[in-house]
Amino acid sequence: TVGALGYGAYEIYGKRHPVEQKPFDPKKRTVVVLGSGWGAVSFLKSINTDDYNVMVVSPRNYFLFTPLLPSCTVGTIELRSIMEPIRFITRHKSRNVKFYESECTDIDPESKTISITDVSDVKGAVTNTTIPYDYLVMAIGADNQTFGMAGVREYACFLKEIWDAQKIRTRLMDCVESAGFASQAPEEVDRLLHMVVVGGGPTGVEYAAELHDFLKDDLETWYPELADKFRITLVEALPNVLPMFSSQLIQYTESTFKQNKIDVLTKTMVKEVGDKSIKVMDANKNMVSIPYGLLVWATGNCPRPLTRKLMARIKDSQTSPRGLLVDDYMRVAGAPDMYAIGDVTFSKYAPTAQVATQQGLYLASVFDNLARIEEGKNKKITPFEYSHQGSLAYIGSDKAIADLPFLNGNVSVGGVATYVFWRSVYISNMFSFRNRFLVVGDWMKSKVFGRDVSR
Ligand code: FAD
Ligand code: MG
Ligand code: MG
Ligand code: MG
Ligand code: MG
Repeated sequence: TVGALGYGAYEIYGKRHPVEQKPFDPKKRTVVVLGSGWGAVSFLKSINTDDYNVMVVSPRNYFLFTPLLPSCTVGTIELRSIMEPIRFITRHKSRNVKFYESECTDIDPESKTISITDVSDVKGAVTNTTIPYDYLVMAIGADNQTFGMAGVREYACFLKEIWDAQKIRTRLMDCVESAGFASQAPEEVDRLLHMVVVGGGPTGVEYAAELHDFLKDDLETWYPELADKFRITLVEALPNVLPMFSSQLIQYTESTFKQNKIDVLTKTMVKEVGDKSIKVMDANKNMVSIPYGLLVWATGNCPRPLTRKLMARIKDSQTSPRGLLVDDYMRVAGAPDMYAIGDVTFSKYAPTAQVATQQGLYLASVFDNLARIEEGKNKKITPFEYSHQGSLAYIGSDKAIADLPFLNGNVSVGGVATYVFWRSVYISNMFSFRNRFLVVGDWMKSKVFGRDVSR
């Protein structure tokens, strides 16, 4: 009946609200967490707030499920389906978790304080303050690597945050409409419809794959006069794409891309970035100019300004320019009571959500053990151990690839069945029932109605 349905909705909706929570206890130590991404959220999910006061500082008040971000650039999935507010994530904690939407701009490991600034558009009278911590958890992730090349920040689109995906989606449709503008010269049409992706890692590959699907499934039917003019080029400096996958899957990806008419330029280095073209040195060491309409830059990570500032303060212990050095217990070298997890660190693992999640979970258990040891209980803190669950990537036209550790060996699979597996893995790793519901809904919606081509 309607009544029962209404009650069901209330049950689900009501559960999104916080339970009654204890306030901060001045006798407990305060853990300040910087960030609201994979590392931070995994830590927050399992930290026991009976033992600690927990405070979170991040310029965005939500968690973002990054693996599905490439799908948002073409509207296969809508952005809000892969976001979850940080207050929702901490709603069932025994003690209230304080959240400040702001950026940490400085860390003083000696006085154990951080400076935070409200960097949002709307601010109150107070925009800066200093906060003391007993323990600090650095989980601020990393910045986009540009190799200091001029033009990248001005003209290219990154693919890391919500606003990046929004910008790509708008820009893509803008290119298409401008290419269709009355009496546009043919070479200008070719330029505007040339989508160039720099970086052959999983992000670049998955973006090119999603773009291909959008062209084939939607744009070519909506814009028949432009259908044979769309081009996608992937530029990679190394000899092949996806270096973390087995050679068999690299070949499979490259041949799928070839079938899908995605040009893959390997051993090709970008040397200059302009507003309408890039200059590259190709495999034969020739300089070539490549005109583009949309340029997506996905060449990996480098430390954020805050990380570099901290490294400079404790430079005797922080000797790697690539990220924070931590020990096997995730302790930051040279800074007492400071821990770091995820992409902010320079470690032997790849910068993935998988690693950040395991480190966050591990660190919460360290804090649990510290509290028990303080109570006089006999606990031992063991070093972090990473357990690799496998690598997955979507490569377009309903095909995915997977390298999975299996019975001491490795299984490499690719194809449509792997895509079904890819979808189910992502869905089961999503944060909430609500996110799963929304993503499945988006998938169905784009299958039935096609993707939206409005700018
Ligand atoms: P992030 O998740 O980036 O979180 C950093 C947080 O810190 C953010 O909330 C940010 O707002 C905040 N922050 C930034 N600066 C400050 C500051 N000054 N003060 C306070 N807070 C700050 N990994 C996989 O394992 N599988 C995948 O399929 C996969 N796909 C991906 C697809 C894309 C498009 C991208 C971009 C990444 C993908 N990754 C994937 C990698 C994965 O997202 C990262 O490794 C992971 O996000 C790292 O977690 P983190 O917590 O270190 O950083
Ligand atoms: Mg984080
Ligand atoms: Mg994240
Ligand atoms: Mg604000
Ligand atoms: Mg325009």
